[in-house]
Amino acid sequence: MFRVVAATSNKHKLDEFKKMLKDQNAEIVGLDSYPDMPPIEETGKTFRENAEIKALAAHEYCDAPAFADDSGLEIEALNGAPGIYSARYADTPEARIERVLKEMEGKTNRNARFVCVLSIAGNGEIIESFEGEVRGKIIDAPRGTGGFGYDPIFVPDGYDQTFAEMPEELKNQISHRARACQAAMEFIEDEMSILDDEF
Ligand code: IMP
Repeated sequence: MFRVVAATSNKHKLDEFKKMLKDQNAEIVGLDSYPDMPPIEETGKTFRENAEIKALAAHEYCDAPAFADDSGLEIEALNGAPGIYSARYADTPEARIERVLKEMEGKTNRNARFVCVLSIAGNGEIIESFEGEVRGKIIDAPRGTGGFGYDPIFVPDGYDQTFAEMPEELKNQISHRARACQAAMEFIEDEMSILDDEF
């Protein structure tokens, strides 16, 4: 069993990562296990830059292989907003949803996508980054109590329920984070020899 740091202090994300990676031979620990680590500033201009900043900072501080994701919601009718500012679009999750719904008033194009870039850092550098996306629609009032963030207003294409209404196992199979994780796991299986030294 090797120890990997998931560079997030978002409990919901950590929980999703642990569930998605439960069959892997890895102990996933979050940044809550490193309470003295200074906060990581997300100064990047893209999901990828921010994921790499977080993965490398955690790898260096924790002296262990680390991965981080940067993720968010991109809405076509809002020119890609909230995008990399998804976590900072307003002060609380409810206020963030309210702001999006207000900005979407009267918009007929409801197309949106969740994006996740997951970066892995080891041996003092970024090893690789992976992107996952899930396309869907923004509805006009929140539904459901599961999940987190914008889940209550996002219905993935091909489904009737929002991410907050569907069983978490289903979200964790089809989400942007699940898809980035699957790509990362495939890479790790293929490239295990490169990572052997580190793990
Ligand atoms: P990050 O922690 O900087 O990557 O911010 C990601 C933000 O995007 C979260 O705080 C949520 O607002 C939003 N987000 C990312 N993934 C999800 C998801 O799976 N469901 C709902 N909102 C999400």
